[in-house]
Amino acid sequence: MSVSNTSVNIAKFGGTSVANIEAMTCCAKVVENNKNTRVVVVSASAGVTNHLVKLANEELTQSQIQAVLDDITQIEQAILDGLGKPKVIEEKLADLLQSLKDLAFHEEILHRADLKDALLSHGERMSSLLFAELLNQRGCKAQNFDARKVVKTDSTFGQGAPNIELIEQQARKLMSPELDNAVLVTQGFVGSDENDATTTLGRGGSDYTAALLAEALRAETCEIWTDVIGVYTTDPRITDKAKPLPELSFEEAAEMATFGAKVLHPATMEPALRKNIRVFVGSSREPEKGGTWIVKDCEQEPPYRAITRRKEQVMVTLTTPKMLHAQGFLGKVFTIIANHNLSVDLVTTSEIAISMTIDNPSNSVAANINQRVLDDLREICEVVVEEGFDLVTVVGNNMQAGAGVASGILSAVKEYTLRMICFGANPHNMSFLVGADDSSDVVKDLHQHLFE
Ligand code: ADP
Ligand code: ASP
Ligand code: MG
Repeated sequence: MSVSNTSVNIAKFGGTSVANIEAMTCCAKVVENNKNTRVVVVSASAGVTNHLVKLANEELTQSQIQAVLDDITQIEQAILDGLGKPKVIEEKLADLLQSLKDLAFHEEILHRADLKDALLSHGERMSSLLFAELLNQRGCKAQNFDARKVVKTDSTFGQGAPNIELIEQQARKLMSPELDNAVLVTQGFVGSDENDATTTLGRGGSDYTAALLAEALRAETCEIWTDVIGVYTTDPRITDKAKPLPELSFEEAAEMATFGAKVLHPATMEPALRKNIRVFVGSSREPEKGGTWIVKDCEQEPPYRAITRRKEQVMVTLTTPKMLHAQGFLGKVFTIIANHNLSVDLVTTSEIAISMTIDNPSNSVAANINQRVLDDLREICEVVVEEGFDLVTVVGNNMQAGAGVASGILSAVKEYTLRMICFGANPHNMSFLVGADDSSDVVKDLHQHLFE
């Protein structure tokens, strides 16, 4: 088969899909069932990256570090056992576990972002090694490919920004010639900077890797295989009334991902949109159930499509009497925010105050809001930080134009205290901040009102 004449598919398998040998076997069948699947992107086995983040970020005693390493080893070892412990793979896995251990005990691990990323990369490096071996054992010729040779990023450790041109160049040079010979099994989430230091793309970044490789290799489709049978009207873990959506537009999916639908990393749709690559989301355990196709033009564009929730939001309110007729205050605020690499989602302003929400997930690799940002802000205004909020977003189409769209949403949540409301800047969403304790009920009520 000549791949150059065939449409290429990239298949990405998430953490639960490669959690153990049984789950991996389901993925192998999915790969074998589509001859166009020439590149496979895998996440770390479920739980492993959380363990690694702990090693990278928490002050632990030597025995606590060892205990975390033991937990990781157990997960990997069980898969190796399932593969019948082939010698070569056993040795390669032992090498990876040793270099992981060296980093975990490195005296500067808590203070050096480059070491953290090197450590975090081990989850995907181990799972890809094991999954490539499984494919080979099943008679599907596969090669474990080091994503760092291709996925080039800047040096923002923890949140590397991909260099699209370089990635295309490297993928065409190093991956394309191999596609006829073997299925390339590579690591999601992991990249490298111009000095070849290991970087990562942010939590959940394997989806993004798959989309970037699909773009670079001009793939026709990109499949995201996970633990749900597609993208739903809301997170099926919040309400069992959530319904899978057969089709979504790029814009709708991008909006959902940005506003917390964890099933897709927020940047996944960018490469797909640039190159018009159709993206599929489905369950690796139940591929026969179909899934969601995310496409450029979809048949329907309803005013309400889905509800998302993003947890662990912080609301920062900045007050300055000087803002009255003051010029340049907003500029100064946003310069400080940008200098600290923080991204702001919702903003509301009044004459003397500006409130904004900032994502502050405790399990993130990149910078959270910290004392240094607050100190910088306090130099120009009074700062109040409030925690314990979730951001709820209704995603849809032409929302600012349709009559009654906003009131339809607000009437469903009239019992709750909303802290900030953003509507109108974008036709695809309406967002508001609610107390974290209320957010599940808010989503359920909204879902009932808009979709049931
Ligand atoms: P993976 O490890 O495969 O990348 P993730 O845990 O990152 O999987 O994403 C899948 C999860 O996303 C689902 O288990 C589900 O709980 C969550 N999720 C959130 N919002 C949605 C949604 N709208 N549709 C489907 N899943 C969603
Ligand atoms: N393993 C990484 C994480 O857990 C990347 C991913 O799974 O997409 O965040
Ligand atoms: Mg994910």
